[in-house]
Amino acid sequence: MRFFNLKNKKEIVSFKTACIKGLGEQKGLFFPTQIPFLQKIDFEKNIHELGFDILYPFVKEDMSETQLKDVLQHTLCFDFPLHTLNENTLVLELFHGETLAFKDVGARFLAASFGIFASEFDKPIKVLVATSGDTGGAVAAGFHKVPNVEVVILYPKGRVSTVQELQLTTMGENIKAVEIDGTFDDCQALVKQAFSDSELNTNFILTSANSINVARWLPQTLYYAKAVKELINNGIDDINMIVPSGNFGNICAGILLKKMGFPIQHFVAATNMNDTIPQYFETKEYTVKQAKATISNAMDVAEPSNLTRIEELYEYHFESMKHDITSVSISEDETKNAILYLYNQYHYVACPHTAVGFSALQKLKNTFDKKYTHVLLSTAHPVKFPRVVEDIIGTTIPIPQHVQHLFNKPQLKTTLPNDYKYFFEFIQNS
Ligand SMILES: *Cc1c(COP(=O)(O)O)cnc(C)c1O
Repeated sequence: MRFFNLKNKKEIVSFKTACIKGLGEQKGLFFPTQIPFLQKIDFEKNIHELGFDILYPFVKEDMSETQLKDVLQHTLCFDFPLHTLNENTLVLELFHGETLAFKDVGARFLAASFGIFASEFDKPIKVLVATSGDTGGAVAAGFHKVPNVEVVILYPKGRVSTVQELQLTTMGENIKAVEIDGTFDDCQALVKQAFSDSELNTNFILTSANSINVARWLPQTLYYAKAVKELINNGIDDINMIVPSGNFGNICAGILLKKMGFPIQHFVAATNMNDTIPQYFETKEYTVKQAKATISNAMDVAEPSNLTRIEELYEYHFESMKHDITSVSISEDETKNAILYLYNQYHYVACPHTAVGFSALQKLKNTFDKKYTHVLLSTAHPVKFPRVVEDIIGTTIPIPQHVQHLFNKPQLKTTLPNDYKYFFEFIQNS
């Protein structure tokens, strides 16, 4: 499979190049030249085998069968259980990984892919990431111990939560945590300057592990596939997926899987007050407003990058896209009410992003066919947003066992002033 740039169809690259480069010219997203259709899907297969069938067509020119199996092994190191909420609603929990959010899946697949390709390059690969907290953790955990790749993570001093900082600083080895005496924007500016530094580009392959990288997008099909498999094996095949959405990468993977032949009837793209897509679907006018800060802050995106991929998947046919996807915007009060309702009604503690999805389902429920089974994707563990959630439900959320060990580990970090010359030195010498 080759991948073309959605902004310049003449730029066609291999999976390997798309993976290392992340973005094409003019910041265009890469997209497969063909969508493979799986004629017969064997739902008896386990998720490793099913995942192989889904992803091998995309990577086979650059990865052997054994290599893809190893990458899947690295990626699927935690489960995606379905939690029953009521008779026709299930929660697909995507937060059982190391950094407690679905981004672990894409980050791990990308990291393992890099591990395979890195040895083919004659220069060391350095992944540079500026983080306000969350994405950095998933990237750090995914790349930990991947050979020939070093990750430098910049974060603003004193502005990330305790758990987030521990996730960045306790890895060690090939993960270098750099605390900048400045803001997140300062961190981003330093990374940007490094990417355009000709000396660094001569010595290293610099890359960003960006969330729109194809190697982060494609593997997100895995958890949809696992949920569908389990439902089909229980005699359920009218499936409606509710996806809390920001940059629309998660939902875009589900739609890709539907196009590949998996029985998913419908999608709900639930957004917070950042309602560019719900507005676009309703009015056919694409208007971008300034991003608003909300309690579901991982979805505070004004211009969702993956819309162009979704439109391409529907061959720019607006009505068929609207037929398959309902998009709805949820207010802050509705989000808070959903957190409280889930707790009171089902003793279920949800993060604010998951609550946005649940609220969207409540809003739309009467418009859907009664035969549907609704699958709400839970994108993060509520303990990542303790202040908001604990305030609403009035009790503390215990820290999951598998992250408690972070509190006993030594922290390794370098503190640098907000000045490029120090950052440059650090990259050169690390
Ligand atoms: C990133 C993120 C989202 C949004 O996912 P997209 O793929 O950008 O739509 C939702 N919830 C959480 C917790 C996230 O971290």
